[in-house]
Amino acid sequence: MGKTYYCDYCDRSFKDDVEARKKHLSSLQHAKNRANHYSVFKDPETILREEHTKTPCKRYMTVGDCAFGLGCRYSHYTPHMIWKLQQLVAMKNFKSLTVQPKGGWPSSGDIIKEYFENVLDLSGTEEHNYPVWSIPPRLANYPYLPPSLQPVTSDKLIDCNFSKWG
Ligand SMILES: [Zn+2]
Ligand SMILES: [Zn+2]
Repeated sequence: MGKTYYCDYCDRSFKDDVEARKKHLSSLQHAKNRANHYSVFKDPETILREEHTKTPCKRYMTVGDCAFGLGCRYSHYTPHMIWKLQQLVAMKNFKSLTVQPKGGWPSSGDIIKEYFENVLDLSGTEEHNYPVWSIPPRLANYPYLPPSLQPVTSDKLIDCNFSKWG
């Protein structure tokens, strides 16, 4: 039996010759597995920054599936997932200013992984209707709104600096 090489990303073994290896490394399945592997370790900040530059993947948004997975050059993140990530970022910023618990906080990778696993469990079984609050027009023109009534934008969530809060 000849030499084999093992691909960690795909959890598969292959005959170890240049052709087979090249073929595997350029395969769609490998690109997808590799992207999935790294995305688990990405910071929510990084994901948000990347997704902001992408346009939504039409295939993923209509069919609910896309062969490119997280390696797709279009965004597979729904507004709700983006919102969730923004919450994660805000939570992380907040945590870094507070005392660490014994054993530390779970890494953002774990949180994201857990989140995606939960999302996958739910997908297709239920339709979610998330209430969206928008500011009444009368309030929007009012010049001295207290912070709690000011509209929350994604930029504000990312930029907010908890240490400055009284
Ligand atoms: Zn592979
Ligand atoms: Zn896609």
